[in-house]
Amino acid sequence: MPQKPASFAVGFDIGGTNMRAGLVDESGRIVASLSAPSPRTTQAMEQGIFDLVEQLKATHPVDAVGLAVAGFLDPDCEVIRFAPHLPWRDEPVRSQLEELLGLPVRLEHDANSAAWGEHRFGAAQGADNWVLLALGTGIGAALIEKGEIYRGAFGTAPEFGHLRVVRGGRACSCGKEGCLERYCSGTALVYTARELASHGSYTNSELFDQIKTDPQAITGKMITAAAKKEDPLGIAVLEDFSEWLGETLAIIADVLDPGMILIGGGLSKDSSLYLDQAVNHYSSRIVGAGYRPLAHVATAQLGGDAGMIGVADLARRAVLETT
Ligand SMILES: [Zn+2]
Repeated sequence: MPQKPASFAVGFDIGGTNMRAGLVDESGRIVASLSAPSPRTTQAMEQGIFDLVEQLKATHPVDAVGLAVAGFLDPDCEVIRFAPHLPWRDEPVRSQLEELLGLPVRLEHDANSAAWGEHRFGAAQGADNWVLLALGTGIGAALIEKGEIYRGAFGTAPEFGHLRVVRGGRACSCGKEGCLERYCSGTALVYTARELASHGSYTNSELFDQIKTDPQAITGKMITAAAKKEDPLGIAVLEDFSEWLGETLAIIADVLDPGMILIGGGLSKDSSLYLDQAVNHYSSRIVGAGYRPLAHVATAQLGGDAGMIGVADLARRAVLETT
């Protein structure tokens, strides 16, 4: 019997600075990848996507293309309504790209794409009702409900990062104030470090000395590195972060009651600094604490490739469903 030819799909992770394209096989393995700076105009962006697909097509047959997008899509994933760092505004990007590329195209929100990657090939295989909480510059979230992506009536659910949790709190880039992601993300670590340093004094803390010298130069990575070296201010910042993460897990559990919450995003690789403590907070802050099962809390497995892998798989499945 002739062997079925291998099937490859291209998954794009489109960020404000760079776009990455991965050629992904049916088992979720990236067999080749390319990246390029993200152009500033719609036309240049679509041409850039075309160029990367052509380069990957030169080495392997490509069946479909998926785009993981950090922005708001319509519920049918046809239109990119608004993406703060990308040029498209209310445009039918899926059909535009399909025409340009001559291949089936699938769009998906970036957190949903990453969740799908984990669901199919990573830490969430076999889990049917679970939440991805991606902790990076902000908070990205996705809900898998009965094995499918849940997107709400208008395509924006779940949006935990911009829940207002502190009245009159820290200003957020979304225009609101006191949003959860201002307290529980990589950016939040920097805010908290500056606040703690301005209200107190930390002896034997290199991080404290650095903030006093140049508060603008502090990054989330510097803070996690300091905490690993047991810097007293670094540890205090991570304690505050753990408490907020515990609150966040409790909110998610009280609203959605998932079986599992996966921590993804850039901060997930440092979960040994905060996760046990966060789960302790979470377990005491849910309603009915001690009398109900806790969601399993774990870290994601596919790292920064989860979105590319997930959206490539979604693109391939979309082709299978229509043939
Ligand atoms: Zn906000």
